[in-house]
Amino acid sequence: MKCPYCLNGEIVFRDEMTNFVNGITVVTKGIDLKECLNCGKKFLSNEDKEKINKNIEENTKYELALKQNLKAMRLKAGLSEIEVANTLGISKAKYLIFEKNKKMPDLVMAFKIANVLRCDIKDVYKLKKVKKSGTQN
Ligand SMILES: [Zn+2]
Repeated sequence: MKCPYCLNGEIVFRDEMTNFVNGITVVTKGIDLKECLNCGKKFLSNEDKEKINKNIEENTKYELALKQNLKAMRLKAGLSEIEVANTLGISKAKYLIFEKNKKMPDLVMAFKIANVLRCDIKDVYKLKKVKKSGTQN
């Protein structure tokens, strides 16, 4: 099937659509979406458009927050607080500021920490979807 708009592109069928709301990935499943691979034109029923808009609207109540998993990963690596701090070249007090979630390290430090804990940075720092403060249920 060729696209009636650009008259050239191949139309593909998908049963889900991905949108982004403030960086949050919003996937709406169970829809009947036709999309042109050439011009990107999408063909959707009004019912499916409504479904997608509802899903997007629901996600505007959320935002992404950075959460750390330092202590669990440090224990998994079998390292003490002071060992990690020494290997990073910082004081134990400074390390504990990160581990106790009082402050997030900068990116370079975050990568260094992941190296020392012998894991991927994604195992230590994750973006999590949280309800925006001040929004109701
Ligand atoms: Zn097209």
